Amino acid sequence: MNERLNLPSPGEVKQLSRTVVHIDLQALHNNLLKIKSHAPNSRVLAMIKCNAYGHGAAPVAKKIEKDINAFGVMFLKEALELSNAGIKKPIVILTGFFDSEELKMIDGFGFESVVHNFEQIEILEKRKLSRPLPVWLKLDTGMHRLGFQPHQVTSAYQRLMLCSSVKKPIRLMSHFSEADDMFSGKTLQQIACFKEMTSGFDGEYCMANSAAIVNWPGTHLSWIRPGILLYGATPFGDRAGVDLGFEPVMTLSSRIITVHELAKGEAIGYGSIFRCPENMRIGTIAAGYGDGYPRNTMGAPVLVDGVRTKSLGRVAMDMTGVDLSCIPSAKVGSKVILWGRGLPAEEVAKCSGEIAYELFCRLTARVQYNFYQHSADFAS
Ligand SMILES: *Cc1c(COP(=O)(O)O)cnc(C)c1O
Repeated sequence: MNERLNLPSPGEVKQLSRTVVHIDLQALHNNLLKIKSHAPNSRVLAMIKCNAYGHGAAPVAKKIEKDINAFGVMFLKEALELSNAGIKKPIVILTGFFDSEELKMIDGFGFESVVHNFEQIEILEKRKLSRPLPVWLKLDTGMHRLGFQPHQVTSAYQRLMLCSSVKKPIRLMSHFSEADDMFSGKTLQQIACFKEMTSGFDGEYCMANSAAIVNWPGTHLSWIRPGILLYGATPFGDRAGVDLGFEPVMTLSSRIITVHELAKGEAIGYGSIFRCPENMRIGTIAAGYGDGYPRNTMGAPVLVDGVRTKSLGRVAMDMTGVDLSCIPSAKVGSKVILWGRGLPAEEVAKCSGEIAYELFCRLTARVQYNFYQHSADFAS
Protein backbone atom coordinates (compact mmCIF):
# COMPACT_ATOMS: atom_id res chain seq x y z
CA MET A 1 0.00 0.00 0.00
CA ASN A 2 1.27 3.44 -0.92
CA GLU A 3 -0.03 5.44 2.07
CA ARG A 4 0.33 8.95 0.77
CA LEU A 5 -1.37 8.41 -2.59
CA ASN A 6 -3.67 5.70 -1.32
CA LEU A 7 -2.47 3.46 -4.18
CA PRO A 8 -1.62 -0.22 -4.16
CA SER A 9 2.08 -1.05 -4.45
CA PRO A 10 3.09 -1.97 -8.01
CA GLY A 11 3.17 -5.65 -7.06
CA GLU A 12 -0.43 -5.52 -5.88
CA VAL A 13 -1.81 -3.89 -9.02
CA LYS A 14 -4.11 -6.31 -10.73
CA GLN A 15 -3.19 -7.08 -14.31
CA LEU A 16 -3.95 -4.22 -16.62
CA SER A 17 -2.62 -5.73 -19.85
CA ARG A 18 -4.62 -4.91 -22.91
CA THR A 19 -3.07 -7.82 -24.76
CA VAL A 20 -4.10 -11.08 -23.19
CA VAL A 21 -3.60 -14.67 -24.22
CA HIS A 22 -6.54 -16.88 -23.25
CA ILE A 23 -5.74 -20.56 -22.83
CA ASP A 24 -8.77 -22.83 -23.13
CA LEU A 25 -7.75 -25.96 -21.24
CA GLN A 26 -10.98 -27.75 -22.04
CA ALA A 27 -10.22 -27.36 -25.75
CA LEU A 28 -6.79 -28.84 -25.03
CA HIS A 29 -8.39 -31.83 -23.38
CA ASN A 30 -10.87 -32.26 -26.24
CA ASN A 31 -7.99 -32.19 -28.70
CA LEU A 32 -6.21 -34.92 -26.77
CA LEU A 33 -9.35 -37.11 -26.92
CA LYS A 34 -9.59 -36.46 -30.64
CA ILE A 35 -5.94 -37.44 -31.14
CA LYS A 36 -6.57 -40.63 -29.19
CA SER A 37 -9.50 -41.45 -31.44
CA HIS A 38 -7.12 -41.24 -34.42
CA ALA A 39 -4.67 -43.64 -32.73
CA PRO A 40 -6.70 -45.66 -30.23
CA ASN A 41 -4.06 -48.34 -29.67
CA SER A 42 -1.09 -46.10 -29.04
CA ARG A 43 0.23 -44.62 -25.86
CA VAL A 44 0.70 -40.85 -25.84
CA LEU A 45 3.98 -39.02 -25.37
CA ALA A 46 2.56 -35.49 -25.23
CA MET A 47 4.98 -32.89 -26.58
CA ILE A 48 5.02 -29.89 -24.30
CA LYS A 49 8.47 -28.55 -25.20
CA CYS A 50 9.03 -24.81 -25.46
CA ASN A 51 6.56 -23.95 -22.71
CA ALA A 52 3.93 -26.18 -24.34
CA TYR A 53 4.34 -24.31 -27.63
CA GLY A 54 3.87 -21.05 -25.76
CA HIS A 55 0.68 -22.21 -23.99
CA GLY A 56 2.18 -22.56 -20.49
CA ALA A 57 3.82 -25.91 -19.75
CA ALA A 58 2.65 -26.39 -16.16
CA PRO A 59 -1.09 -25.69 -16.61
CA VAL A 60 -1.11 -27.66 -19.87
CA ALA A 61 0.66 -30.61 -18.26
CA LYS A 62 -1.66 -30.61 -15.25
CA LYS A 63 -4.76 -30.56 -17.42
CA ILE A 64 -3.82 -33.66 -19.42
CA GLU A 65 -1.53 -35.51 -17.00
CA LYS A 66 -3.99 -38.25 -16.10
CA ASP A 67 -4.88 -38.98 -19.72
CA ILE A 68 -1.43 -39.28 -21.26
CA ASN A 69 1.43 -41.71 -20.66
CA ALA A 70 4.44 -39.42 -20.70
CA PHE A 71 5.49 -35.86 -21.48
CA GLY A 72 8.16 -34.86 -23.99
CA VAL A 73 10.45 -31.86 -23.61
CA MET A 74 13.71 -31.01 -25.34
CA PHE A 75 15.98 -30.00 -22.50
CA LEU A 76 16.66 -30.84 -18.87
CA LYS A 77 15.74 -27.30 -17.84
CA GLU A 78 12.21 -27.82 -19.15
CA ALA A 79 11.87 -31.14 -17.33
CA LEU A 80 12.98 -29.53 -14.06
CA GLU A 81 10.33 -26.84 -14.42
CA LEU A 82 7.62 -29.49 -14.81
CA SER A 83 8.92 -31.47 -11.90
CA ASN A 84 8.95 -28.31 -9.83
CA ALA A 85 5.31 -27.72 -10.79
CA GLY A 86 4.44 -31.09 -9.29
CA ILE A 87 4.13 -33.20 -12.45
CA LYS A 88 4.44 -36.89 -11.63
CA LYS A 89 4.04 -38.64 -15.00
CA PRO A 90 7.28 -39.67 -16.77
CA ILE A 91 9.07 -36.79 -18.49
CA VAL A 92 11.20 -37.71 -21.49
CA ILE A 93 14.08 -35.40 -22.40
CA LEU A 94 14.40 -35.57 -26.17
CA THR A 95 17.96 -34.32 -26.48
CA GLY A 96 19.05 -36.36 -23.47
CA PHE A 97 22.06 -35.34 -21.40
CA PHE A 98 25.19 -33.48 -22.44
CA ASP A 99 27.48 -34.58 -19.63
CA SER A 100 27.70 -36.73 -16.54
CA GLU A 101 26.28 -33.99 -14.29
CA GLU A 102 23.12 -33.78 -16.35
CA LEU A 103 22.79 -37.55 -16.29
CA LYS A 104 23.05 -37.41 -12.52
CA MET A 105 20.15 -34.96 -12.39
CA ILE A 106 18.06 -37.02 -14.81
CA ASP A 107 18.66 -39.99 -12.53
CA GLY A 108 17.97 -38.05 -9.35
CA PHE A 109 14.75 -36.46 -10.56
CA GLY A 110 13.51 -39.67 -12.15
CA PHE A 111 13.31 -38.40 -15.75
CA GLU A 112 13.65 -40.54 -18.88
CA SER A 113 16.21 -39.85 -21.59
CA VAL A 114 16.58 -40.16 -25.32
CA VAL A 115 19.99 -41.50 -26.29
CA HIS A 116 21.05 -40.33 -29.74
CA ASN A 117 24.86 -40.47 -29.92
CA PHE A 118 27.84 -42.55 -28.77
CA GLU A 119 29.05 -39.81 -26.44
CA GLN A 120 25.92 -40.37 -24.35
CA ILE A 121 26.41 -44.13 -24.32
CA GLU A 122 29.95 -43.65 -23.04
CA ILE A 123 28.71 -41.42 -20.22
CA LEU A 124 26.07 -44.03 -19.31
CA GLU A 125 28.68 -46.79 -19.26
CA LYS A 126 30.88 -44.79 -16.89
CA ARG A 127 28.34 -43.53 -14.39
CA LYS A 128 26.67 -45.60 -11.72
CA LEU A 129 23.00 -44.65 -11.32
CA SER A 130 20.53 -45.03 -8.46
CA ARG A 131 18.20 -47.08 -10.69
CA PRO A 132 18.26 -48.35 -14.28
CA LEU A 133 17.41 -45.39 -16.52
CA PRO A 134 14.50 -45.73 -18.99
CA VAL A 135 15.99 -44.76 -22.37
CA TRP A 136 14.59 -44.09 -25.81
CA LEU A 137 17.10 -44.97 -28.54
CA LYS A 138 16.83 -42.43 -31.31
CA LEU A 139 17.31 -43.69 -34.84
CA ASP A 140 18.09 -41.41 -37.75
CA THR A 141 15.91 -42.64 -40.60
CA GLY A 142 16.47 -39.57 -42.78
CA MET A 143 15.82 -36.39 -40.81
CA HIS A 144 19.57 -36.17 -40.13
CA ARG A 145 19.13 -34.11 -37.00
CA LEU A 146 19.57 -36.50 -34.07
CA GLY A 147 19.99 -40.25 -33.93
CA PHE A 148 22.07 -43.22 -34.91
CA GLN A 149 22.62 -44.01 -38.56
CA PRO A 150 21.65 -47.42 -39.94
CA HIS A 151 25.22 -48.73 -39.77
CA GLN A 152 25.59 -47.65 -36.11
CA VAL A 153 22.38 -48.99 -34.67
CA THR A 154 23.44 -52.56 -33.85
CA SER A 155 26.43 -51.39 -31.92
CA ALA A 156 24.46 -48.70 -30.06
CA TYR A 157 21.68 -51.11 -29.17
CA GLN A 158 24.04 -53.82 -27.97
CA ARG A 159 26.06 -51.46 -25.80
CA LEU A 160 22.87 -50.18 -24.16
CA MET A 161 21.65 -53.75 -23.63
CA LEU A 162 24.92 -54.58 -21.86
CA CYS A 163 24.88 -51.42 -19.75
CA SER A 164 23.63 -52.05 -16.22
CA SER A 165 22.50 -48.40 -15.92
CA VAL A 166 19.94 -48.89 -18.68
CA LYS A 167 16.44 -50.22 -18.06
CA LYS A 168 15.27 -52.95 -20.44
CA PRO A 169 13.54 -53.22 -22.82
CA ILE A 170 14.89 -50.20 -24.65
CA ARG A 171 12.36 -48.10 -26.55
CA LEU A 172 13.09 -47.17 -30.16
CA MET A 173 12.09 -43.94 -31.84
CA SER A 174 12.59 -41.87 -34.97
CA HIS A 175 11.29 -38.58 -36.38
CA PHE A 176 9.74 -37.74 -39.77
CA SER A 177 10.94 -34.83 -41.88
CA GLU A 178 7.93 -34.45 -44.19
CA ALA A 179 4.97 -36.40 -42.88
CA ASP A 180 2.82 -33.33 -43.55
CA ASP A 181 2.94 -34.40 -47.20
CA MET A 182 0.46 -37.26 -47.65
CA PHE A 183 2.22 -38.48 -50.77
CA SER A 184 5.76 -38.13 -49.47
CA GLY A 185 8.12 -40.76 -50.85
CA LYS A 186 10.54 -39.69 -48.13
CA THR A 187 8.11 -40.79 -45.43
CA LEU A 188 7.75 -44.20 -47.07
CA GLN A 189 11.55 -44.45 -47.09
CA GLN A 190 11.75 -43.48 -43.43
CA ILE A 191 9.15 -46.10 -42.50
CA ALA A 192 11.05 -48.79 -44.42
CA CYS A 193 14.33 -47.69 -42.87
CA PHE A 194 12.86 -47.80 -39.35
CA LYS A 195 11.51 -51.31 -39.94
CA GLU A 196 14.88 -52.49 -41.12
CA MET A 197 16.80 -50.80 -38.31
CA THR A 198 14.53 -52.22 -35.60
CA SER A 199 14.08 -55.72 -36.95
CA GLY A 200 15.16 -58.21 -34.36
CA PHE A 201 15.00 -55.68 -31.48
CA ASP A 202 12.27 -56.10 -28.90
CA GLY A 203 10.74 -53.03 -27.45
CA GLU A 204 8.22 -50.30 -27.94
CA TYR A 205 8.34 -48.17 -31.08
CA CYS A 206 7.54 -44.49 -31.51
CA MET A 207 7.51 -42.46 -34.72
CA ALA A 208 4.38 -40.38 -35.34
CA ASN A 209 4.29 -36.61 -34.82
CA SER A 210 1.04 -34.69 -35.41
CA ALA A 211 1.36 -34.84 -39.19
CA ALA A 212 1.80 -38.61 -39.16
CA ILE A 213 -1.02 -39.12 -36.65
CA VAL A 214 -3.40 -37.64 -39.22
CA ASN A 215 -1.76 -38.63 -42.51
CA TRP A 216 0.04 -41.91 -41.85
CA PRO A 217 -2.00 -44.24 -39.60
CA GLY A 218 0.43 -47.08 -40.30
CA THR A 219 3.04 -45.23 -38.22
CA HIS A 220 1.11 -45.03 -34.96
CA LEU A 221 2.91 -48.05 -33.42
CA SER A 222 3.17 -48.35 -29.60
CA TRP A 223 3.54 -44.62 -28.95
CA ILE A 224 2.55 -41.39 -30.71
CA ARG A 225 4.18 -37.98 -30.11
CA PRO A 226 1.56 -35.29 -30.74
CA GLY A 227 2.57 -31.65 -30.46
CA ILE A 228 0.76 -29.01 -32.49
CA LEU A 229 -2.52 -30.97 -32.67
CA LEU A 230 -2.86 -30.78 -28.90
CA TYR A 231 -3.00 -27.03 -29.29
CA GLY A 232 -5.63 -27.26 -32.01
CA ALA A 233 -3.51 -26.31 -35.03
CA THR A 234 -2.02 -28.46 -37.79
CA PRO A 235 1.27 -28.64 -39.65
CA PHE A 236 -0.62 -28.65 -42.96
CA GLY A 237 -0.63 -25.76 -45.41
CA ASP A 238 -4.11 -26.61 -46.67
CA ARG A 239 -6.04 -27.76 -43.57
CA ALA A 240 -6.36 -25.80 -40.33
CA GLY A 241 -7.07 -27.56 -37.03
CA VAL A 242 -10.70 -26.47 -37.08
CA ASP A 243 -11.16 -28.15 -40.48
CA LEU A 244 -10.20 -31.46 -38.86
CA GLY A 245 -12.35 -31.03 -35.75
CA PHE A 246 -9.65 -29.69 -33.42
CA GLU A 247 -10.28 -26.61 -31.28
CA PRO A 248 -7.94 -23.65 -30.89
CA VAL A 249 -6.51 -23.61 -27.37
CA MET A 250 -4.83 -20.20 -27.56
CA THR A 251 -6.69 -17.00 -28.35
CA LEU A 252 -4.62 -13.82 -28.50
CA SER A 253 -6.76 -10.79 -27.81
CA SER A 254 -6.24 -7.07 -27.45
CA ARG A 255 -8.21 -3.84 -27.52
CA ILE A 256 -8.82 -0.87 -29.77
CA ILE A 257 -7.22 2.10 -28.02
CA THR A 258 -8.09 4.83 -30.48
CA VAL A 259 -10.19 5.47 -33.57
CA HIS A 260 -9.41 7.91 -36.41
CA GLU A 261 -11.29 9.15 -39.42
CA LEU A 262 -8.65 9.52 -42.12
CA ALA A 263 -8.97 11.25 -45.46
CA LYS A 264 -8.17 9.60 -48.76
CA GLY A 265 -4.39 9.68 -49.37
CA GLU A 266 -3.35 9.71 -45.68
CA ALA A 267 -0.75 7.12 -44.68
CA ILE A 268 -0.72 4.89 -41.60
CA GLY A 269 2.24 3.96 -39.42
CA TYR A 270 5.99 3.58 -39.99
CA GLY A 271 7.22 3.79 -43.54
CA SER A 272 3.80 4.96 -44.76
CA ILE A 273 3.39 1.60 -46.45
CA PHE A 274 -0.40 1.90 -46.45
CA ARG A 275 -2.24 4.89 -47.86
CA CYS A 276 -6.01 5.22 -47.59
CA PRO A 277 -7.52 4.67 -51.06
CA GLU A 278 -10.60 6.57 -49.84
CA ASN A 279 -11.82 8.20 -46.62
CA MET A 280 -11.47 5.53 -43.96
CA ARG A 281 -12.22 4.74 -40.35
CA ILE A 282 -9.08 3.32 -38.74
CA GLY A 283 -8.45 1.80 -35.34
CA THR A 284 -5.24 1.31 -33.40
CA ILE A 285 -4.82 -2.05 -31.67
CA ALA A 286 -2.72 -2.14 -28.49
CA ALA A 287 -0.52 -5.01 -29.71
CA GLY A 288 2.49 -5.37 -31.94
CA TYR A 289 5.64 -7.37 -32.44
CA GLY A 290 6.67 -6.56 -28.86
CA ASP A 291 3.89 -8.93 -27.82
CA GLY A 292 4.80 -11.53 -30.41
CA TYR A 293 2.46 -10.47 -33.18
CA PRO A 294 4.29 -11.01 -36.49
CA ARG A 295 5.77 -7.78 -37.86
CA ASN A 296 6.04 -9.03 -41.39
CA THR A 297 2.32 -8.84 -42.14
CA MET A 298 -0.05 -6.35 -43.60
CA GLY A 299 -3.65 -7.11 -44.34
CA ALA A 300 -3.69 -10.02 -41.89
CA PRO A 301 -7.21 -10.97 -40.80
CA VAL A 302 -8.33 -9.56 -37.43
CA LEU A 303 -11.63 -9.85 -35.56
CA VAL A 304 -12.99 -6.64 -34.00
CA ASP A 305 -16.06 -7.21 -31.83
CA GLY A 306 -16.35 -10.53 -33.60
CA VAL A 307 -16.36 -9.01 -37.09
CA ARG A 308 -13.67 -9.91 -39.55
CA THR A 309 -11.51 -7.11 -40.93
CA LYS A 310 -7.80 -6.64 -41.63
CA SER A 311 -4.69 -4.99 -40.29
CA LEU A 312 -3.31 -1.94 -42.06
CA GLY A 313 0.15 -0.43 -42.27
CA ARG A 314 3.32 -1.73 -40.66
CA VAL A 315 3.02 -3.62 -37.38
CA ALA A 316 4.95 -1.64 -34.75
CA MET A 317 6.33 -2.86 -31.42
CA ASP A 318 3.25 -1.87 -29.46
CA MET A 319 0.52 -1.02 -31.93
CA THR A 320 -1.07 -2.14 -35.16
CA GLY A 321 -3.53 -0.35 -37.41
CA VAL A 322 -6.85 -1.94 -38.35
CA ASP A 323 -9.56 -1.13 -40.85
CA LEU A 324 -12.82 -0.26 -39.08
CA SER A 325 -14.63 1.10 -42.14
CA CYS A 326 -16.91 -1.93 -42.23
CA ILE A 327 -17.51 -1.98 -38.44
CA PRO A 328 -19.25 1.29 -37.53
CA SER A 329 -20.01 0.08 -34.00
CA ALA A 330 -16.30 -0.44 -33.19
CA LYS A 331 -14.94 2.04 -30.68
CA VAL A 332 -12.25 2.60 -28.09
CA GLY A 333 -12.26 -0.49 -25.89
CA SER A 334 -13.60 -2.83 -28.59
CA LYS A 335 -12.30 -6.37 -28.29
CA VAL A 336 -9.84 -7.56 -30.88
CA ILE A 337 -8.89 -11.15 -31.63
CA LEU A 338 -5.56 -11.53 -33.39
CA TRP A 339 -5.82 -15.32 -33.67
CA GLY A 340 -7.58 -18.19 -31.93
CA ARG A 341 -11.31 -18.69 -31.53
CA GLY A 342 -12.97 -17.71 -34.79
CA LEU A 343 -9.68 -16.95 -36.51
CA PRO A 344 -7.26 -19.84 -37.09
CA ALA A 345 -3.64 -19.10 -36.21
CA GLU A 346 -2.69 -21.04 -39.34
CA GLU A 347 -4.37 -18.38 -41.46
CA VAL A 348 -2.61 -15.50 -39.71
CA ALA A 349 0.73 -17.31 -39.90
CA LYS A 350 0.39 -17.66 -43.65
CA CYS A 351 0.19 -13.87 -44.02
CA SER A 352 3.76 -13.58 -42.72
CA GLY A 353 5.04 -16.70 -44.46
CA GLU A 354 5.21 -18.48 -41.10
CA ILE A 355 3.61 -21.45 -39.40
CA ALA A 356 1.29 -21.45 -36.39
CA TYR A 357 4.09 -23.00 -34.28
CA GLU A 358 6.09 -19.78 -34.62
CA LEU A 359 3.22 -17.53 -33.58
CA PHE A 360 2.53 -19.66 -30.50
CA CYS A 361 6.16 -19.86 -29.37
CA ARG A 362 6.92 -16.19 -29.86
CA LEU A 363 4.59 -14.53 -27.35
CA THR A 364 6.56 -12.29 -25.05
CA ALA A 365 6.63 -11.68 -21.31
CA ARG A 366 4.46 -8.57 -21.68
CA VAL A 367 1.41 -10.62 -22.62
CA GLN A 368 -0.83 -11.66 -19.76
CA TYR A 369 -1.91 -15.30 -19.63
CA ASN A 370 -5.42 -16.23 -18.53
CA PHE A 371 -6.20 -19.92 -18.11
CA TYR A 372 -9.70 -21.40 -18.30
CA GLN A 373 -10.68 -24.88 -17.11
CA HIS A 374 -13.90 -24.71 -19.14
CA SER A 375 -14.38 -23.26 -22.60
CA ALA A 376 -17.52 -21.45 -21.49
CA ASP A 377 -15.55 -19.46 -18.89
CA PHE A 378 -13.81 -17.65 -21.71
CA ALA A 379 -16.38 -15.57 -23.52
CA SER A 380 -14.73 -14.28 -26.67
C1 LIG B 1 8.35 -31.26 -31.71
C2 LIG B 1 8.47 -32.70 -31.93
C3 LIG B 1 7.33 -33.50 -32.07
C4 LIG B 1 5.93 -32.93 -32.18
O1 LIG B 1 5.78 -32.35 -33.46
P1 LIG B 1 4.37 -31.77 -33.93
O2 LIG B 1 4.57 -31.45 -35.37
O3 LIG B 1 4.14 -30.54 -33.13
O4 LIG B 1 3.38 -32.82 -33.66
C5 LIG B 1 7.50 -34.87 -32.13
N1 LIG B 1 8.74 -35.42 -32.09
C6 LIG B 1 9.85 -34.67 -32.00
C7 LIG B 1 11.18 -35.34 -31.97
C8 LIG B 1 9.77 -33.29 -31.93
O5 LIG B 1 10.86 -32.55 -31.85
